[in-house]
Amino acid sequence: MTVHTDGRTDRRLVLATRNAHKVVELREILADALAATGFELVGLDDFEGLKEVVESGVTFADNALLKARYAASTTGLPTLADDSGLAVDVLGGAPGVFSARWSGGLGESSGLAKDEANNTLLLAQLADVPEQHRAAGFVCAAALVVPGAEPGTTSSEVVREGHCRGILGREPVGDNGFGYDPLLIRPDGRTLAQHSAEEKNAISHRGEAFRALAKDVLTLLG
Ligand code: IMP
Repeated sequence: MTVHTDGRTDRRLVLATRNAHKVVELREILADALAATGFELVGLDDFEGLKEVVESGVTFADNALLKARYAASTTGLPTLADDSGLAVDVLGGAPGVFSARWSGGLGESSGLAKDEANNTLLLAQLADVPEQHRAAGFVCAAALVVPGAEPGTTSSEVVREGHCRGILGREPVGDNGFGYDPLLIRPDGRTLAQHSAEEKNAISHRGEAFRALAKDVLTLLG
């Protein structure tokens, strides 16, 4: 087994998600930092016995830290986690941390899929809102938690935010992406659901937050 100069023998950096697609996406965004530090990015499926974290925070940063702290303290490994959602200006930042469950049980009772139910409800809530007040943006908080070298010693924590702004349309447009992507019209006139995955990564809230966090990976793990 290789022992590195920083004393860590396990060169895994955990991404606190069970979404294999997210792990692949993040390996690309963090490629340079991973190569420079010699860490391999792995998802939660690499580990047994980890519980689901209840996202009880009231900010994206709270929830990202809840997920990262739990996985870091359970695995003993440096961990990344993110939390994201849509913030609508005229709604004071809602749906915010409630983005995934904005329509509650409405979807099930109406037979709509969850994303469709969320989009339908949001469009109905904003039906009377004129163009000049339809600004909104996706927000992502990305957290890095590095456990202390000895058990029980203090960990290092960093949170970076990314944003992707636009105007909310009046009907869903586009087939790519997920969630509220078909509603957010970017300055070029296309919704995020009309962007390819590569185009979206280059401008997305998640891309921006994790590109900023890549510098912290280099500083704290390099
Ligand atoms: P998560 O924290 O990445 O799981 O995102 C929570 C919820 O926010 C998702 O279920 C979506 O409703 C919404 N959301 C987050 N990121 C995006 C995005 O890039 N496009 C569309 N919806 C998003």
